[in-house]
Amino acid sequence: MKKRLIQCLFNGLFCLFCLNLLPGCTTAEDELPHSSANHRLPVGASSTDFLSSDTYTSLTFEIQYPSGHRPNQALMDNLKNMSEELLNKPDGINIVQTEISSLNKDLYTLSDIRAIEDNNRSNFTKGGNLSAYILIVDGDYSVNNNSEHKTLGLAYNNTSIVLFQKSIEKNSGKVGQPSNRLLSSTVVNHEFGHLLGLTNNGTEIQSNHHHAEKGAHCTSTNCLMYYKAVTDFSMSDMIGLSSPKKLDAQCRADLQANGGK
Ligand SMILES: [Zn+2]
Ligand SMILES: [Zn+2]
Repeated sequence: MKKRLIQCLFNGLFCLFCLNLLPGCTTAEDELPHSSANHRLPVGASSTDFLSSDTYTSLTFEIQYPSGHRPNQALMDNLKNMSEELLNKPDGINIVQTEISSLNKDLYTLSDIRAIEDNNRSNFTKGGNLSAYILIVDGDYSVNNNSEHKTLGLAYNNTSIVLFQKSIEKNSGKVGQPSNRLLSSTVVNHEFGHLLGLTNNGTEIQSNHHHAEKGAHCTSTNCLMYYKAVTDFSMSDMIGLSSPKKLDAQCRADLQANGGK
C-alpha cells in the first residue's frame, strides 16, 4: 500500500524589512480513508467532513498549550471567523482550551508531537460533532530549524495541527516584525486550510491554481494558501490590528465544490 505523507512547513526567510514565511510541503499520493472518527488519517482526508454538514453539523477545536503559552484571543477569533465563513456547521463551532504540562524541550520531533496528542487530547469526533486538535508547543521543530528556515506550524494528521510557539514569538512582536497576533493567526489559519484539503490535497481544484512545486499551495500571492503566507506587512500589522490573509476566489471555489459555504 502506498503511503501518503504530507508535511507543511512554515519557514521564515529574513531580510532587513520583510519576513517571508515559506511553507514547504511534500506529498505522496494514496487513497483517502473515509471516517473522520479516525484522527490518524493523512492531512486532507477529512476535508469534506469539515466543509459540509452531511455527516457533521458542528465542530469543536480543542487547543492545548503549556503554561505561559495560552493562545491570544485574536487567534481564536480569527480561526472562528474563518471557520464560520467557510464551513457548513449549522449547530455551531466551538473552541475549548486547556493547559497541559510541557516536555520542556528545545526541539520537538514529529514523534514527540504525536505522543503529546496521544497523552493529552480529550476531544474526539463523536456523533454529529467533528473535532480538530491544535497543539501549541513551547519549542522549535526539530526539522528545518535554522536561521534561514524556521518551521512555525505543521498540519500533521487529518484533524491535527501543531504551532511552534517559540519560533512564532522569535519572529513577531519586535520592530520590523509582524505582531504576534497576526503571525500566530496566519499560521493557524494557513494550517487549517490544509486540513480543508487545500490546495489540491483532499479538495479537488476547480481551476488551475495549484503551485505544485511548492507542495499543496496556491499560486495567488494574495491568498492565505500562497507558499509565502506573510510577504509584507504594515504598521497596523505590527501593532496587531490586521487580520490574516483570506483565501482567494479560486481556493474558495474549490471548497464550495467540496461541500463548503
Ligand atoms: Zn502550507
Ligand atoms: Zn488560493
